[in-house]
Amino acid sequence: MLYIGCDVGGTNIRSAVIDESGRILGEAKMRALMEKGAKVVLGQIVDSFREAISRAKAKKEDIRAVGIAMAGQHDSKAGICIFSPNFGWENVPVIPSLQEEFPVPMFLGNDVNLATLGEWKYGAGKGYKWVVMITLGTGIGGGAVLDGKLMLGATEMFAEVGHMTILPNGPRCGCGNHGCWEALAGRDAIVRRAVMKLQDGRKSSLLKIVDYNWRELTPEIIANEANRGDEVAKEVIEETGYWVGIGVANLINIFNPEVFIIGGRIAQAGELLFGAIERTVKARGLKASWGPCKIVPAALGDDAGVMGAVAFARQRLGEEL
Ligand SMILES: [Zn+2]
Repeated sequence: MLYIGCDVGGTNIRSAVIDESGRILGEAKMRALMEKGAKVVLGQIVDSFREAISRAKAKKEDIRAVGIAMAGQHDSKAGICIFSPNFGWENVPVIPSLQEEFPVPMFLGNDVNLATLGEWKYGAGKGYKWVVMITLGTGIGGGAVLDGKLMLGATEMFAEVGHMTILPNGPRCGCGNHGCWEALAGRDAIVRRAVMKLQDGRKSSLLKIVDYNWRELTPEIIANEANRGDEVAKEVIEETGYWVGIGVANLINIFNPEVFIIGGRIAQAGELLFGAIERTVKARGLKASWGPCKIVPAALGDDAGVMGAVAFARQRLGEEL
């Protein structure tokens, strides 16, 4: 039996045909035409299913179920996207619409929650029962598999960790609050930290790389230069690790996981970032909680969404995973 996992992001739609062992047999990726509205995007999603099936040299009849990972708050039982600020969607009947064109069992869930399930089933959380995951990006998302069960929350808002207040009078967050975790450790905060050091006249290889145009700086560039030994970039990654670590310590104290997974491109910064995170966790968390907990980078990269979507669909069908 085969499954389709679909990851709908603000930029791209990606669908993959995946077998029971978690192997990707074929996939389709296209730019999501969000500006054209939900109806067009839903049509694109069905196109991506058909293209992925053809790339996998499979037939529609081979597809047992489809899982869809999408940013936002959903009613996963009804298959409705209640609210997705990134897409500008409100109460879009995702599954009922898609099933008119593609009548197979279909399941919709939040992208970070499903990525967490994917890492638990196939990636860095494999073999564990208590797994917490965060994704570091523009915002900070969270998810958890606790006692082997994916958490969704009462209104399927589990877990907006990026909006934990970490510094009450800190920088303003996109949500309107001050000092949220993502306002201190999200993408913009990382870049801002580097720009401030450069504005102070510090010498750094960062300047040449972006040709003195600070707006071109990204966390990935900063992480790269830090690993090449640039002092300013190293400081920025270490300070980022400190702020990430404060939130991680809180989450480890609360959830007592066996493994704490950190995803997002910046998580590939390696030892420099993880060292700073671990030092902060050890300084602030409870030893009985962090002692047995491994803090590790995500293993599936961009595949976590499609693989988690398939795991979600299979669980909802009642298959043993
Ligand atoms: Zn916030």
